[in-house]
Amino acid sequence: MAFVKRDTTIKEYQHFIKEVYGLSNERYFNLEDMVINVERFIMRGLKGIRKGDKEKIKINLLIANSWFTSVMNQLHIDLENEVWKRFPYLCSYCASCPCLCKEKRIESRQKVFVDEKKRLKTFEEFQNMFKEIYPPQKRSLEHVGVHLAEELGEFSEAILIYRGERKEEDFEEIKLEAADLFSCFMGVFNVLGINVAKELSVMFSNNCHVCKNAPCTCSFIDITRFKS
Ligand SMILES: [Zn+2]
Ligand SMILES: [Zn+2]
Repeated sequence: MAFVKRDTTIKEYQHFIKEVYGLSNERYFNLEDMVINVERFIMRGLKGIRKGDKEKIKINLLIANSWFTSVMNQLHIDLENEVWKRFPYLCSYCASCPCLCKEKRIESRQKVFVDEKKRLKTFEEFQNMFKEIYPPQKRSLEHVGVHLAEELGEFSEAILIYRGERKEEDFEEIKLEAADLFSCFMGVFNVLGINVAKELSVMFSNNCHVCKNAPCTCSFIDITRFKS
């Protein structure tokens, strides 16, 4: 049986997604299909924001995040490393914690120094780090929702560009955009006061959250017609 521990690391979670969904992803979906699924469920999450429906936001963003993790697997990107390199307990833009982008009107990206001594372990620690860098009490749900949509657009664009000429520098851009998108997922969950690792450990206590098998045996139709 595959499951997500309450104190999972991002790396372990990424591995869980591979174990459960790797096979059906490879059989049913190409990279672009998977990106469409990230978009599909993020948009449902945004609908939840418009409707003020916390459960709808939660389930859809958790599913979107699992598709996003599948994309990371497909591209062999170590998400935890990329997130840490981009956000080493600092805002990736102003290089401060908490972020001072607005107060200091920072207009160019500052050099971020990575202090490995501060390296975090669990998924929850990463989520808490984002809470400190971008304090949720200063942000509205609509604001973090719009930011999530923006970063999703940039992530999709990076993939589109990379799929043009498959250049190494374009691949590096996907890693940066992936870290930014992950930070925006955390932004929404932090404003909602939802502990992602805890929710994942409930949702994924026993293999696939729908068919309860590992590898997942949900059919293509089950997946593409899934209501949430
Ligand atoms: Zn900042
Ligand atoms: Zn399944």
